Amino acid sequence: MKSFDEDGKLIIPDKELQKLQEHGLYKKENKIHINHAFCPKGHELIVPDNELIDGFPSIKLWLKGEIGNELVFISPVLNNLNRIGGEIFSKGNKLKVCCPECGSRMPVLGPCECQWNGEYMMLSLDKNPENQNAVCFCDVWGCPKGDVRLAGEVISEYMRGYQM
Ligand SMILES: [Zn+2]
Ligand SMILES: [Zn+2]
Repeated sequence: MKSFDEDGKLIIPDKELQKLQEHGLYKKENKIHINHAFCPKGHELIVPDNELIDGFPSIKLWLKGEIGNELVFISPVLNNLNRIGGEIFSKGNKLKVCCPECGSRMPVLGPCECQWNGEYMMLSLDKNPENQNAVCFCDVWGCPKGDVRLAGEVISEYMRGYQM
């Protein structure tokens, strides 16, 4: 079975999708997106009045860099790099990814393979972060892995790496 389409995007079979829906993933017009994301203290990062990206309320985050801090809205669609804001940052800036409500930093899943020593920051899909149901993205501005992706996918990538 093909796991990726022509653009290299992940194809998730319908049965699996049903299962994913129980975990907070939704599909609309072939886009898989999240509806909820929480900081480690349980603040909701996706609220209906967030900027819309790709037709969905985006994920609001407080990004802190050496040059300054800015509120940035990132696409809730998996494998999509669209963002609003962050013009002060340049490619390769490593950022602290924080909750706009309480300033808590998002937990680290593990290293990104990028040249800037990025790390994957996790966003919990459940209010209770102990459920470990999460998406993640690289904390370096401009990294191609800065799109929201399933934490489980990244973990299996690590496992494949260890087996080689
Ligand atoms: Zn918070
Ligand atoms: Zn990276």
